[in-house]
Amino acid sequence: MVPVLAIDGPTASGKGTVAGLVAERLGWHFLDSGAIYRVLALAAIKRGVGLTDEAALAAQASALDVAFERGAILLEGEDVSLQARREETGNSASKIAALPAVRTALLERQQAFRVAPGLVADGRDMGSVVFPGAFLKIFLTASVESRAERRYKQLIAKGSTASIDDLLRDLRERDARDTSRLVAPLRPCEDAVLLDTTTLSIDEAVHFVLNLAMQ
Ligand code: C5P
Repeated sequence: MVPVLAIDGPTASGKGTVAGLVAERLGWHFLDSGAIYRVLALAAIKRGVGLTDEAALAAQASALDVAFERGAILLEGEDVSLQARREETGNSASKIAALPAVRTALLERQQAFRVAPGLVADGRDMGSVVFPGAFLKIFLTASVESRAERRYKQLIAKGSTASIDDLLRDLRERDARDTSRLVAPLRPCEDAVLLDTTTLSIDEAVHFVLNLAMQ
C-alpha cells in the first residue's frame, strides 16, 4: 500500500509550507486539499452557484476540472493560483466545506492522489476521513496571534495591504466554522502527533516531521 503522511491543522498554521517541504525531502507527491475546496469556491462563484446550494455544489464538485501543475492551480485549464490564495476565497471555501454532500463528492478525487512512492496530504480531515490508514498523522497548530502575524507578513511581502486586526477576526471566524461544523470538524484525531509551531521555525517543524517519518 502506498504510504500516506497526513498533516492537518487550522488555517495559516504553516502546515502547507511544512507539508510541501516534507514531500519534497521524501520525494513524495503532495496533496493541498484546501486548494481543491478553494477552486470549487471559485468555480461556484464563476458559474453563479450559491455557496449554500448543497446539491448544485456537490454536482459541481463531482465534475470539477482542477489540476496542479508546477506549483500552479488550474481551473478548466486557466491559472487561478492568485485568486485561489486570496483570503476571501479561503472564507468561501470554508463555507462550502461545511456541506456534507460537497465533502463526499470530493473524497475519491483526494484519495486518487495516493500514488507511489508516497503522499504527503495537507488539510483538515486527511488523517480522520480521507486517509484514516495514514502511517503518520500530524496535527500542526500555532496560536491564532502568530498565525495572523505570519499571514500578515506573507501578504505584505507580496505587496498586498493587510490589517492584523482584520486577519485575526477572519482567522477566528474560520477556526470557529471549521471546528464547529457537523461533518469532519477540525480536531486532532486520537492517533495524531501534536506539533505546536508557535515558537518553531519552518525548518524545525520540517525536521520534527521528517524524524518521525523516518523512525
Ligand atoms: O487549507 P486552506 O486554508 O487552503 O483551506 C481552505 C478551507 O477549506 C478551510 O478553511 C477549510 O474550511 C476547508 N478545508 C476542509 N478540509 C480540507 C481542506 C480544507 O474543510 N481537507
